[in-house]
Amino acid sequence: MSEIPQITLVGRPNVGKSSLFNLLIKKRVAITSDIAGTTRDRIKSYYSIEKYQTNLIDTGGIFENLPKNLFQELVEIEACNAIRESDLILFVVNGKENLTPIDKEISHYLRKKSKNVFLLINKIDNEKKKDEISEFYQLGFSEIIPISVSHRLGISLLEKKISQFLKKELGIKETSRGEEKLKIAMIGKPNSGKSSLINRILGENRTLVSEIAGTTCDSIDSICKYKDKEYIFIDTAGIKGKTKYQNSIDFFSITRSYEAIERSDICLLALDSSQEISAMDRKIGRRIAKAGKPCLILFNKFDLFHPDAQKKAREEEAKEQIYRELFFLHYAPCIFASAKKKQGIKLIFEQINEIIKSSKEIPNTGKLNRFLAKCQRENPPTKHKIHKKVAKLFYLTFAIKHRSLLPVPNFILFVNQPKLLQKSYINYLTNSLRKAFTLKAMPINLEIRTRRKIEK
Ligand code: GDP
Ligand code: GDP
Repeated sequence: MSEIPQITLVGRPNVGKSSLFNLLIKKRVAITSDIAGTTRDRIKSYYSIEKYQTNLIDTGGIFENLPKNLFQELVEIEACNAIRESDLILFVVNGKENLTPIDKEISHYLRKKSKNVFLLINKIDNEKKKDEISEFYQLGFSEIIPISVSHRLGISLLEKKISQFLKKELGIKETSRGEEKLKIAMIGKPNSGKSSLINRILGENRTLVSEIAGTTCDSIDSICKYKDKEYIFIDTAGIKGKTKYQNSIDFFSITRSYEAIERSDICLLALDSSQEISAMDRKIGRRIAKAGKPCLILFNKFDLFHPDAQKKAREEEAKEQIYRELFFLHYAPCIFASAKKKQGIKLIFEQINEIIKSSKEIPNTGKLNRFLAKCQRENPPTKHKIHKKVAKLFYLTFAIKHRSLLPVPNFILFVNQPKLLQKSYINYLTNSLRKAFTLKAMPINLEIRTRRKIEK
């Protein structure tokens, strides 16, 4: 059992599991899509209930009466794993229909596994319907809660019971706001290896990795513990498949990525090193830079990148490609990774910790102004070729750009007239800032303002 309590939704198809999942985590994670088979994955999310933190899992349709195929089997194995690892099962049945043999089969399975189960009778859309649920008592569960996801009935009772359960049965401690965790998003185009990397990072096979078209998982938040620190990983592995739906699939991937970038404190951009850096890579990368997020580039599938060449030559070639194509992410260190060969995974955590450390060492105004004086001494600004005047640099300070857990500074330089400061001099200051201070993986934005503005 993981240290973070795990709650799993189980039930036959169409009883309302994914609707309940979305309602509980209060966001639209599962993509509602008409493409058959698109929600057949195990979807996991960080679920904060009252003062407790848990992971909530929505299993695909287990015990489904569909013809067996490889994909179906994978889903079943995944669902069984989810059940085994769970602290509490929310077993959902459809109160609008009679008890079915599959419901009985599931309850038998859960009892065999001696799991803590809440039986949720869904689609009880009005009070009258409550009288019609007696037959479900024969399943023999002591905790039975009628709910209606569509009408949001019984949901607060359910949440109250879950938190009581966490407190009494599991002795889970409440967490305070101060313990908020850093959010790290895994972003990249389909097939770059995001799910595989996340699996390596989380250290267990939590999401399906499959080349079968239609394998899907949406944005998944998982809590991960590394060296006593907890992080939230946002996995954006999108819908895949080369079908006539390709456009909408790309659209979903891109919008999911953008959402994840906004929500994250650090972005991990996964690239497929066995392919050229593409327009989609550039599009996603640009967005990370524009959002001003700290970033690590994971040059994944490195086992396939000129495997016969020497290590040093491979790495130099890789860097050359990455920073030529993604020049706007010049601030992002790159890691040569292989999810397949388990390479570079430890390095990811090491780099994340360095980013956290350097965010705590943002230079104060005193240091910044000594730095500015030194820069001016070593390389004073020259006369502007057109305006025929030299810019006067007054002082350098910073504002915190994101009110996130990881402060990203926005440097502000006050001058007499911004137009006198030439681009080359701004570049010189920006580069010097990067050299003088460890601002690991952070974008450096230097804003030029006139002093008059602050006097107002
Ligand atoms: P899943 O296959 O178990 O994940 O089920 P879904 O969440 O996809 O829901 C199946 C269908 O049941 C959808 O059309 C939902 O809109 C509908 N549904 C979910 N909850 C309720 C409810 O409380 N009342 C009614 N009447 N319909 C519901
Ligand atoms: P996602 O769509 O970005 O989540 O990509 P997946 O994790 O599903 O990976 C896509 C394909 O690339 C799968 O067939 C993986 O087995 C394969 N793959 C992922 N990482 C590596 C790697 O480091 N090396 C190699 N050779 N293949 C990889």
